[in-house]
Amino acid sequence: MARIGFLGLGAMGRPMASRLLHAGHDVVVWNRSPERAAALVQEGAAVAPSPAAAAAGADFVITMLATPEALEQVLFGTLGAAATLVPGQVVIDMSTVGPDVIRSVSARLPRLAVLVDAPVRGSVPEATSGRLDIFVGATDEHYEQVRPILESLGSVRQAGGPGSGAAIKLVANLALGAAIVALGEALSLGESLGLKRDKLLNALADSPIGPIVAAKRANVESGQFVPTFKLRHAAKDLRLVMEAADARGRDLRQVRTNRAWLDEAAAHGAADLDFSAVVATIAEARPSTIALGEYG
Ligand code: NAP
Repeated sequence: MARIGFLGLGAMGRPMASRLLHAGHDVVVWNRSPERAAALVQEGAAVAPSPAAAAAGADFVITMLATPEALEQVLFGTLGAAATLVPGQVVIDMSTVGPDVIRSVSARLPRLAVLVDAPVRGSVPEATSGRLDIFVGATDEHYEQVRPILESLGSVRQAGGPGSGAAIKLVANLALGAAIVALGEALSLGESLGLKRDKLLNALADSPIGPIVAAKRANVESGQFVPTFKLRHAAKDLRLVMEAADARGRDLRQVRTNRAWLDEAAAHGAADLDFSAVVATIAEARPSTIALGEYG
């Protein structure tokens, strides 16, 4: 069994750290808001006072943090984990931060410490039941090193070399953003044509966006958007997609529009709701309310 420092106990990090504990690992946790660690202490976790303390002596340091900025802070800020890393330790970043951030962070870790990117598909239910899809970017050697740890969390696959897991995750979330906006726009048009929402959802369930209808129908019908995947994170992911595309000269017009919808929903108070709340923003919007100029 391994010693694991686990940094970031948000909606995803808490159940993931819990699964690692139940798999028999020695887990030392840290979270910016320390009260979030309490339930894990009951399950046998030790709590560290800083990222550096959680990382000291760990075989693996797992990060599950909101944004690139949070990852930067936790690794390289005051009492950051990088300060105590030594050769042979492996940092596994499971947040969604994109491949450019992974490369930048990797280049600044102490010599011979390793960074593996292993972002996930699936949400809180999958994190809780160990059914995440995990996309690993690593050399073959490092992949084999992290695979047994990650198998407690879900189905593990090697996307390619370092950065590839983070890259695939951005591509996957480009598609997720497109699907949820397509659902909102389909309802918007359908209702403007006088169609009933349940008839529209039945028809869309059998369309190419059927999976997102199945996953988010209850939210849309109830108007309750209790977060599993926060809208602010979906908006952050489309920001990362656009940054990656811009840096490579790719013109992703649909992503630009989808991002504008998510940002508009966030500006209207939905940032901490489930990302499917963008459907309500779109269904209620009129043409003048969407400000594409900022992205155009
Ligand atoms: P979350 O519930 O919002 O938790 C975010 C975590 O990041 C918390 O531990 C938070 O600490 C920490 N954090 C934020 N800013 C920080 C800072 N400046 N310094 C230190 N810690 C900071 O997010 P989540 O849903 O667990 O998602 C985590 C990551 O996984 C994100 O990158 C997200 O895009 C990705 N993801 C999420 C899902 C999902 O369905 N939820 C699915 C796949 C991937 P506090 O507790 O102190 O706020």
